[in-house]
Amino acid sequence: MASLRVIAVDLGGTKILAGLLDRNGTVHRRCELPTPTGSQEALLRGIEEAVAQVFAEGVGAIGCGIPSVLDRRTGVSLDSTNIPLAGASLGERLIARFGVPAGVENDANAAALAEWKRGAGVGVDDLILLTLGTGVGGGVVLDGSLFRGWAELGHTLVVADGPPCQGTCTGRGHLEAVASGNAADRAAEALWGPGSTAEQLVQRAGGGDGAALEALAAIGRLLGAGIGSLVNVFGAELVIVGGGFGSAAAEFLFEPALEVARREALPPARKGLRIVEAALGPDAGLIGAGLVALAALDGER
Ligand SMILES: [Zn+2]
Repeated sequence: MASLRVIAVDLGGTKILAGLLDRNGTVHRRCELPTPTGSQEALLRGIEEAVAQVFAEGVGAIGCGIPSVLDRRTGVSLDSTNIPLAGASLGERLIARFGVPAGVENDANAAALAEWKRGAGVGVDDLILLTLGTGVGGGVVLDGSLFRGWAELGHTLVVADGPPCQGTCTGRGHLEAVASGNAADRAAEALWGPGSTAEQLVQRAGGGDGAALEALAAIGRLLGAGIGSLVNVFGAELVIVGGGFGSAAAEFLFEPALEVARREALPPARKGLRIVEAALGPDAGLIGAGLVALAALDGER
């Protein structure tokens, strides 16, 4: 079935990205629409519209990566922070509208699936993906299969009683509060005043600015503390770091992160531990959703 194609949907808080993909993950058509956030019905219609725009003859299934906590048996979205989707099944809706199998996965899990099958984690049985963007997301592959539960890796505790976390999270000192792009924005503001950004921090570090380098190293050490704990929980020896901030600042973050993570992690993970950059960039979500579609097609869910 070399000609078989699937539709992939990467749903974000601001945009819906839909693509027509073949089995190898090559994107043949793509469409980007703003995410309607006025109501659940508007959101579901927006997703249907994006799918319809790339739908083609011979499409076998639809896969979606969405920023929701999902009931992993039914695919029902239980709760979402940035989009109005709770208590509904996007998969059922798409099956009814388009008449093909549909699978839905948490977006961070889908990105982990993509890096594992097509990116920086190919051939590895255990890995942790962390995406450092506005927040911190992540997914886990264990014993050669995707962990489909609610893996909120960004909300693991790194600094007890540390800076407050983001959004609806009431925690303090979580990985997301100390190692996200937003945390880097705050580090930049502490150095150069209000309105300074993570981009400036990375740019000045690239130019050899000592204060910027140290601020990023400090973030890297906190990232490493979080990674050390995650490695102790999951026993993975490969940690893939991506996301807008994570990729842009990789050369400044990874070395201090690895040093601290090795200190915190117990053997044997300590010895073989590697921190590498995500390979798929912003397309990870779309490629992961394509893999979810292929799994739906093969009746895996
Ligand atoms: Zn949190």
